Formats: sequence, C-alpha cells, structure tokens
Amino acid sequence: MSFSNLGLAPELLQAIADQGYTEPTPVQAKAIPPILLGQDVMAAAQTGTGKTASFTLPMLQRLKEFANNSVSPARHQVRALILTPTRELAAQVQQSVKTYGKHIALRSAVVYGGINIDPQIKELRAGVEILVATPGRLLDHLQQKTVNLSQVQFLVLDEADRMLDMGFLPDIKRILSVLPAQRQSLMFSATYSDDIRGLAKQFLKNPVNVEVARRNSTVETVTHLVYHVDANAKRDLLTHLIRSRDMRQVLVFCNTKIGANRLAYKLAKDGIAAAAIHSDRTQGERTQALAEFKEGRTRVLVATDVAARGLDIEQLPFVINFDLPGSPEDYVHRIGRTARAGLSGEAIALMADDERDKLDAIEKLLKFKLPVAEVEDFKRSPALRGEARHREGRRPEGRREHGRRDENRHREDRRPDSGRNPPARSAQSADPLFSKPYNPPAPTLTDVANAAPRPQAPKKQVAALFLPPVAEKQDISS
Ligand code: AMP
Repeated sequence: MSFSNLGLAPELLQAIADQGYTEPTPVQAKAIPPILLGQDVMAAAQTGTGKTASFTLPMLQRLKEFANNSVSPARHQVRALILTPTRELAAQVQQSVKTYGKHIALRSAVVYGGINIDPQIKELRAGVEILVATPGRLLDHLQQKTVNLSQVQFLVLDEADRMLDMGFLPDIKRILSVLPAQRQSLMFSATYSDDIRGLAKQFLKNPVNVEVARRNSTVETVTHLVYHVDANAKRDLLTHLIRSRDMRQVLVFCNTKIGANRLAYKLAKDGIAAAAIHSDRTQGERTQALAEFKEGRTRVLVATDVAARGLDIEQLPFVINFDLPGSPEDYVHRIGRTARAGLSGEAIALMADDERDKLDAIEKLLKFKLPVAEVEDFKRSPALRGEARHREGRRPEGRREHGRRDENRHREDRRPDSGRNPPARSAQSADPLFSKPYNPPAPTLTDVANAAPRPQAPKKQVAALFLPPVAEKQDISS
C-alpha cells in the first residue's frame, strides 16, 4: 500500500515524500480513509505507531479549503483542536502539523502551561486554524476569552487514556461544552479501559474503530527482559548494563521525582552523563534536557511517567524500568518509547523483591512472561530466591505481603493544571537529603557528567544538581 492510494492531496503527498516515508503504517492505512470521509474514529494505537500522522494528514486535507495567506485574523479562525495530556506531546504534535502541512497555508499554534501566556495570546489574536493544547492552559485562554472555539469542526483527543489517568476529564468536558456539536471527533488511546470506552461513547458519533495492535499490547519489535535484583543493587546493575552493553541512549523510568533526581545524580557520579526530567522541572529545563538527550550529549534520561509521556525520540534503542510502574498500562506506555515506527528496541526491567506483584500485573496484561536475565555479580540475595520458586509456580506463603502498598505516596503528582494553582507536593521523603530545599550552583548537564574529580559540594545538595535553579514554581501537568 502506498500513500497515494489513501486519497491524500498532492501537497500532503509531497510533505510525506519530503519526510522519506515510503508507505503508511498500519494505523495510517486504517485511520486516514474514514477520517477523510468525515467519520468519527476511535483508534487504539500507541505512541510510535505513526498515529500522529494518521490524524494530522487527513485533518490538514479536510481543512485545506480554509487555507489562505491573508493577514486578517478574521480569515484565520480555529477550525481544529487537538488536545494532548502533556506539554511535550503538544509541542511534538504541533511540529508534525507544521511538517506535514508545510505546503498548505494553514496556521497552527500550540498552547500549554508552565510558560508565559502572553506570547500565546498574541499568536491566537493573529489567528490560527489549528490549535494544539493541553487542557489546563486552554481553559485559561477560554476564561480570559483569548481564544474562540466556536468554529471548531475537527477535534482530536490524543492519548486519551493518559488524559483520564491525569484527571483531565472535568477539564475535557468543560472544553467540549463550548465546541460546536456539529463536528468530526477522533480519539486516540494506547490502552482500552471501561473509562475510555465510556468517554468514546460520550463524545464520538458512530465511530469507526481502528485497532492496529492487540488491545493493551506492546509493539512486537520490542524485546523484553527482566533482571531480578536486590533493590539496593539496582543502581550498580544499571551502571553495569549501560557500560557493558555500551548503551548510548537510554531512557530510564523511575516512579518518583525524588527517585529520578537521585538516580540521575548517582549515574553522573559514576561518570555517565545523565539528566532527570519530571514535572518539577520548568518547561525550559525539560526541553533542554530532552534536546541534550536527543543530541547524544546526555546518555541517560531519567524520567517519570508524566514527563515522558509522548516523548518522540527517534531510534531510541533502550528503555529501562528502574522501578516497575504501579499500573501495568504504564509499562505499555513506557516501553512505547522504543521500537518506534517499526525499529527494534529493548525494554529492560529491574525487579526488586517487593515488585513481584507489579511484574505479575504486567505479564497478565501482556499475556506473556517477560524473559528473565541474570548478571553473575548481581545475583539475588537469599531473600529473593523465593522468587525463583514463585516463578516456577510454588509461591511461598504470604509473598504478596511484601508488596509496597504505600508506594503511591511518592508517585509523581498528576493533578492537571496549567499554572493556575501551585503544584501539590508529593509526600516528603523520610530522608532529609531529598526533601530539604536545594540551592544548586547551576552547572550544565555536561559539566555535571564530566565532573571529575567529584565536586566538593556538600553531600546533601544533590537532588536537582543537573538543572539550573528553578526561578519560579511551574505547573505540573500539561
Ligand atoms: P507517532 O506514533 O506519531 O509518535 O510517530 C512515531 C514516529 O514514526 C515519528 O518519528 C514519525 O516521524 C514516524 N513515522 C510516522 N509515519 C511514518 C511512516 N509512514 N513511515 C516511517 N516513519 C513514520
């Protein structure tokens, strides 16, 4: 199948050719035709499948009639709205809109929280046809009447499952209530849950269902591996794996902001250039960390789920779950960052004794057992040997009691907001090292990674060493 069979306009085919794409991905082949026909679509497709182009290309085609080069704002009304859960994803989607729409005179803008609203207001006043937004900041604009959505005829909810996870449902409902009822709506979600089905029922009309992979499945080109390891040996094992396998670009997931900071610091201490990215970082800091990672200046990006959502890093070969995620769907999302667009990738999980239940849940969702690996020097402690018995089907009495029920206390706060309220702090660590305020000397990421001999900074000033001082409190969502 080629793109020209899908009925796309020459300007779009040209943009696709400019990108070097030779054929549509499965989700593109299935979603583009019904969207071009004006139908609502519910698509189960995760990041990395080419889903962004699958809605952006037909959207541009359907809006082509509004293309014009007039300087009058009245000639540039918002016709399409794309909602995304995170700032990073919003920025990436707008980039795709620009890339695929470069031969069509339609304007686009992106609005998200954590940055000054004034330039966004200016851009909106000048007029745009396509608006990509995170819900919180869009509501700010609606409240301030700096955006008019009365002409929206095309709506996309991207990564809808994540938006629900992050508690955006009330915001989404408020936004939908100001859109014209007569419109085409699309919903993309990596995973299907009853909530997602409910949402689809609420706002899609007779949707065409597009499913490119088994429900809640992972991309087939991902190789999975799980190491059973003592919790306190995880960091050394991680360093060992990165070094021994000469991993050049690794995305590592931690469940908490504190954990991400601590791990990035420790990796840098081991001489591995690393940066942490999570919702306590300003947008500028997150963008910088991501750019340095993409350029290869930072070898390891340690991320929390919220910050990593939607990250598009081409040819990312390794995703490592330093902590197993609290929900198995998050495993699917996390490893969706590797093996994108048909490339192969490796998903490695480091499982400590008290994460047994999480692995069980992941395997149940994936419907297969993750292959187990061991490194000689990181054999499990006697306490973990029961795991082997368990995996062979002889679960020792009371095993599940080891599960940490209170781990959510330190999970990243996912409350959606866009700067209207200060972020709620996660529970403080018992260790003052990670909870007391920090005044960093603000070295660059590279400075830190190259710091040898180790800086003589007081031992406890570590939590945010990788990034410049936070000038002002930023919002935590979008
Ligand atoms: P997405 O799932 O939208 O995040 O896209 C994942 C990656 O696939 C992006 O880097 C796209 O540039 C790339 N991509 C999208 N469509 C195609 C295609 N038809 N052929 C090759 N790569 C593609």
